[in-house]
Amino acid sequence: MEQKIEVVFKTQQAYKYTLRKNNAAQRIVKLKALKDAIEKYEDKLYRALQSDLRKSAFETAVTELFFIYGELDFAIKNLNEWMSPKRIGNTLTTPFAKNRIYYEPKGVCLIIAPWNYPFQLVMSPLISAIAAGNCAIVKPSELSPATSKVIGKIIAEAFDEQEVACFEGNASISTLLLKLPFDHIFFTGSTEVGKIVMEAAAKNLTSVTLELGGKSPTIIDKEVNIEKAAEKIAWGKLVNAGQTCIAPDYVFVHEQQLDEFIGLYKAAVNKMYFKTDKLDTKVYGKIISTKHYKRLKDLVDEAVEKGARIDLGGTFDEANQTINPIVLSKIPNGSKIMEEEIFGPVLPIISYQNLDEVIDQINSKSKALALYIFSKNGKNIKHIIKNTSAGGTCVNDVLIHISNPKLPFGGVNGSGIGSCHGVFGFKNFSHERAVVFQSRLDFSNMIYPPYVGKEWVL
Ligand code: NAD
Repeated sequence: MEQKIEVVFKTQQAYKYTLRKNNAAQRIVKLKALKDAIEKYEDKLYRALQSDLRKSAFETAVTELFFIYGELDFAIKNLNEWMSPKRIGNTLTTPFAKNRIYYEPKGVCLIIAPWNYPFQLVMSPLISAIAAGNCAIVKPSELSPATSKVIGKIIAEAFDEQEVACFEGNASISTLLLKLPFDHIFFTGSTEVGKIVMEAAAKNLTSVTLELGGKSPTIIDKEVNIEKAAEKIAWGKLVNAGQTCIAPDYVFVHEQQLDEFIGLYKAAVNKMYFKTDKLDTKVYGKIISTKHYKRLKDLVDEAVEKGARIDLGGTFDEANQTINPIVLSKIPNGSKIMEEEIFGPVLPIISYQNLDEVIDQINSKSKALALYIFSKNGKNIKHIIKNTSAGGTCVNDVLIHISNPKLPFGGVNGSGIGSCHGVFGFKNFSHERAVVFQSRLDFSNMIYPPYVGKEWVL
């Protein structure tokens, strides 16, 4: 495998000089070829996502396919504009020159993806890489093997290996890939592995985009439509069985509203995921692996052993890798569930007395990928936004900021570096090159030596 990877890498390194000459129309042809290949394999993708994650057809359509078709169409529509050099104003040092920013392809890029939205999280950066005129090697996750296989077929259908290639496999394949001097690495996955990727990239001074995880807090202000908040949080928490990087990880609820919120959350879960008192596994996904299932069970067991209260759920079905929605409250300090990203259908609730105490707790942790605020009070909303940091925020909703390609999507420090989607993805895979065209009306020599007679500058 090592040899094959090296051959493909070298071929791409040679081909990148040809590819960079492509204009917008030529790149659009490539994006359309990718779209055609995805459409051809749509049925197989539905089946693969059902097999890997028990993803319903509806969830696959909305969170994987439509998302990618949207990104493709958006790139096709806007690429000409994104690629065109941007005019920049003059300054005293370049009074009559033309100043421009050119977007040049980075070259050969590596895309490493996770398993939770295994199609979307390969394709979204790949669209940006192609739009920006790059060659790419893609490494999908070994934990979603059915989807990874279809991804390999789609890529082989749409591209020659000299332009885009896919290597399936586990961390050992990533390790081989990470030894190579790529021009850019786009990694989506855990914060822990993100550090390994950044360390490997540093050896070659390769630029990185890191789309990582972490604990995304949700604040429910006292002045709120609490029923709506409970419904939205239940959906955001339980879509894909909680295995969503921007899922609300834990919730702050005012101490006087704790029982009301728990009741409303239960009602929302019941409405969305239960049919005549039985969990509806047609709409509710499974945990990706027994290892992840056990990790989640251990997190809950440890919190409960320490004294946490189970307010909902607690039913585990190992044979089907299914964990019914769980709510925990009264969680003792030091519980692992409040330290690690949960990435499963367990919602810890922390009760609070005032918002500043909530802000202090959030700021004591690593910066979140997402922070959600539910409130009717504009002053409180602004106060929270001003005093916290997060990759992205929704006010009175969850997750939806990821769906607008006009917004940057990404983390900050511990939750990521750089951003993706739309023009932000295009820029991440491009080098912004400053180009100055000097004018014939050029007085630069005013600052050249000798300096005698030019002391007036001082
Ligand atoms: P992971 O970090 O375990 O794996 C991600 C990828 O890295 C996989 O392809 C895997 O094979 C590879 N990998 C694993 N170990 C490696 C190593 N030692 N060296 C090199 N490569 C290695 O993450 P995961 O479990 O697949 O995904 C879950 C994590 O991803 C969560 O933390 C989640 O929050 C995060 N995530 C973030 C986003 C985002 O957009 N910010 C999106 C989805 C998931």
